[in-house]
Amino acid sequence: MPDTIRVRFAPSPTGLFHVGGARSALYNWAIARQQQGKFVLRIEDTDEARNKPEWVDGILNALSAIHINASDPAFEGPYFQSRNTVGQREAALKLFAEGKAYYCDCTREELVKRTGSQHLGYDGFCRDRGLEFQEGRALRFRTPDEGMTVVDDVVRGATEFPNNAIEDFVIARGNGSPVFVLANAADDIREGITHVIRGEEHLSNTPKQQLLWEAFGAELPVWAHLPVIVNEKRQKLSKRRDKVALEDYLAEGYLPDALVNYLMLLGWGPGDDVEIRPYEELEKLFRLEDVNKSSAFFDVKKLTAFNGEYIRALPVEDFVQACRRWLEAPYAPWAPEAYDDGVFRAVAELAQTRIALLSEITQYVDFLFLDAPTWDEASWNKAMKPGAAEVLKFTRARWADSEWTAEALRVGLEAAAAEHGLKLGKAQAPVRVAVTGRTVGLPLFESVQVLGRERTLARIDTAAARLQPA
Ligand code: GLU
Repeated sequence: MPDTIRVRFAPSPTGLFHVGGARSALYNWAIARQQQGKFVLRIEDTDEARNKPEWVDGILNALSAIHINASDPAFEGPYFQSRNTVGQREAALKLFAEGKAYYCDCTREELVKRTGSQHLGYDGFCRDRGLEFQEGRALRFRTPDEGMTVVDDVVRGATEFPNNAIEDFVIARGNGSPVFVLANAADDIREGITHVIRGEEHLSNTPKQQLLWEAFGAELPVWAHLPVIVNEKRQKLSKRRDKVALEDYLAEGYLPDALVNYLMLLGWGPGDDVEIRPYEELEKLFRLEDVNKSSAFFDVKKLTAFNGEYIRALPVEDFVQACRRWLEAPYAPWAPEAYDDGVFRAVAELAQTRIALLSEITQYVDFLFLDAPTWDEASWNKAMKPGAAEVLKFTRARWADSEWTAEALRVGLEAAAAEHGLKLGKAQAPVRVAVTGRTVGLPLFESVQVLGRERTLARIDTAAARLQPA
């Protein structure tokens, strides 16, 4: 085995970046970095019907979002599978030349007729017919008739696959183009890969790939198949059913560091109870041997809780910067010129302790930048119970000439409420909805202080008029 560890991440550029792919990438990255090895990015772009070049940028961007940077010395590539078709064809022909593969001209119909079944594998009909290459003839790998192929997997232990159940599989199609198992094995060998760490869905290919590695005389890699990721119904995470794209999570305001932390723990744990820790620590602690066999539950609630913790731990200035995207078009519901950075900064710290997703920031601060609050009916009905008009009236009277600090505003409202036999909490709800449009939000008196007297009183008037039309 080469002195340095060489792992690889081999995505197919077929769509947005799956969180399962992100986890595989992170585990590979951790191994490469902790052992001063290399992380090879290989884009498996040979499926012309499904691959789109623009997804390659998507892969690089997604990797860099989770701090796997192409500029890091541990990073190598990207290589492209499609650029090694010559090498893959040569590898296939070598197997033919050595008698380890043979040409076959059987059609599917002929095979079904011979075996009497749609489902049985290839019956070896052409094995010893000595066919030469001709357009339309597939090249099949001659698998052993006896014995076992034992895939020794770091995560799953040894899995035995009886050789007589592995059909003579196709390695190159009738037009000479290599198929996935061959391309994958040939590229791994050419790139000097020492560890194949990937999703469990590839375990079923592995005996075939291992037979190819052996046929090429290459030293076998360490195999590690990572557990399936499932949703709350224990179904495999699927892009049709579940939100699986890393890009979608980022767009909703999950912080990259929180995602990285959460994904690292998806199927592995350092064996203590500490869940939130910086990537550098996770990288040092990560051990392939400790990856779980059982499926990993992608718990969005837990991820969101992680995210909230990460948000709260940010220095305020970083929090302000992280919110930027949601304070601007097209996310923000206010006119761009209505936004005032000083006003946002005045409440940023209060918002930081309350949100779990950065995208929630707009609904916490929109009342400051919209001409009028957007009253949603549910909040309105909840807060504007009988007596609400009275509360608005006495609040307005108190605040009209109150000192304009959060503390003075609170004391004023509390005193006025007491005069009317109300607790402060009861009195706050209609005022909050009148001023911000919502029943939950930032602390009321700080909000009102930042909003200013004129706008606050005008909103109270508007709400009062809505309650009791003249
Ligand atoms: N290209 C394959 C995929 O995206 C990965 C193959 C591998 O990791 O060996 O699923």
